[in-house]
Amino acid sequence: MAEPLYPLLSLTRLRMGIDGTGVVTLAAGAGCPLNCRWCINKRLLREAPAEMVTAEELLERVRVDDLYFRATGGGVTFGGGESLLHVAFLKRFRELCPAEWHLSAETSLAVPPEQVRLAAGAIDAFIVDCKDMDGAIYRRYTGGDGALMESNLRLLLSLVGPERIRVRVPRIPSFNTAEDQRRSAERLRALGLSDLELFDYVVREE
Ligand code: SF4
Repeated sequence: MAEPLYPLLSLTRLRMGIDGTGVVTLAAGAGCPLNCRWCINKRLLREAPAEMVTAEELLERVRVDDLYFRATGGGVTFGGGESLLHVAFLKRFRELCPAEWHLSAETSLAVPPEQVRLAAGAIDAFIVDCKDMDGAIYRRYTGGDGALMESNLRLLLSLVGPERIRVRVPRIPSFNTAEDQRRSAERLRALGLSDLELFDYVVREE
């Protein structure tokens, strides 16, 4: 079977306290089914096209920080676009990388439920950008289906438990209000999620 590939946009080393536990290398990937108004990923893709890498190739590049990962409980975070589009790659990377490495995935959960199931077995922690829990706001901002995101979030919760899920709840300029953000957080808590990060998107007009 052909080796799964990852469309690598950029690697950022030695991150702390932003996207995972311990020292993290962020592997930003291309591709996403959503169409968010303030998406940074699309701009990055225009400026620097993605490079297709195998899990072995990526492993060789990030291994330089092996000691930091082990000493701090850190590892690799897959982000950028929609990381769960590349779940076959994530599984392969998990098989090859040291068991001590902590793998995280940034995701909007706008993927088929099967991708969520597969990712649950390969990834230690999920950082979910829910956008907004209101279906109309979600649709207007992303062009996607908020009901799919919510049902995938429930599925993920049932598979890995709340300890392995952080949900980012943004205030999105021109799309939602602080009150909408508060309502989203309330709905997420009602689902059983407690690790919530409320913050404001900082946008740059293009
Ligand atoms: S989910 Fe993220 S990568 Fe996808 S369109 Fe929205 S901002 Fe861009």
